[in-house]
Amino acid sequence: MNDRKILAGRDPLVFAGSPLDRGDQLRRDEAGMAALLGGDDGWWLGLIEGDPVLQDQGGLFWFRRSEIASLADMTTGLFLGHYKGSPCFAATITTADQLPLDAEITPARQAAMALGHDEAAIYAQAKALLAWHARHGFCAACGGATTAKSGGGRRQCDACGSEHFPRVDPVVIMLAVDGERCLLGRQASWPEGIWSALAGFVEPAETLEEACARELEEEAGIKVDIAGVRYVMGQPWPFASSLMIGLVAPVTDANVTIDPHELEQARWFSRDEVRTMLAGTHADAAMPPSIAIARRLAELWADGDI
Ligand SMILES: [Zn+2]
Repeated sequence: MNDRKILAGRDPLVFAGSPLDRGDQLRRDEAGMAALLGGDDGWWLGLIEGDPVLQDQGGLFWFRRSEIASLADMTTGLFLGHYKGSPCFAATITTADQLPLDAEITPARQAAMALGHDEAAIYAQAKALLAWHARHGFCAACGGATTAKSGGGRRQCDACGSEHFPRVDPVVIMLAVDGERCLLGRQASWPEGIWSALAGFVEPAETLEEACARELEEEAGIKVDIAGVRYVMGQPWPFASSLMIGLVAPVTDANVTIDPHELEQARWFSRDEVRTMLAGTHADAAMPPSIAIARRLAELWADGDI
């Protein structure tokens, strides 16, 4: 398999391809970081319960520090990195009713589909980091209060000194393939007619291939050839802070027995069926929208690229 070939000529997945220089070396200078966060240089994003503020003409609404300071809790302020030579920051807005007239709060998934790739990736970083900081005000080791350090790249406990780093939760999402057909499933809570690749969190002491095989067997009762599982591509997924790891998995036992706690249905779809689903012409089945890596995996398989 050739990753370059898979990516060539296709848009990056939404939230991937961040243009930011995250400034690892800059972050080591705490005084310099504090000065940067408190200074007037650069541009700020404001998020409201994880949702971004967009310009009414489209694109992220970038604030100057003096503007956002009246809207946001600046103690949540984070350094994201440098973009086109300017430092970029994010903070949580607390007074949404005072936003500029040409700014609008936009739901996260709607924003993801509207933003360009650079800004979608920057927003994903801001969303995941702000959410992590909001949930980690206290030390998991001793219960003491923690303080953001390194411009928000970590937190440190004021009492015991433990360091805490933003976590990323790995999720395998896999297209199980049996010759000219692939397995898709659906959960009862999804919109009617939507089918997707199966997915699950990687557990401790487990490889990606093992997580893939376990999830497919648990949820759908099928078995795969672990040695044949291949990585296709990844996608940051800031709901809340996952990394989607796209795999393709050859099947050795294709008999489907679903776990009704996980899935409402799972079944095999022919390559032609998947093509009609992607084209939107299937009679009663459809794929998730273009922001989903599951759709990209299906596109690559339908085109014979994986
Ligand atoms: Zn502690």
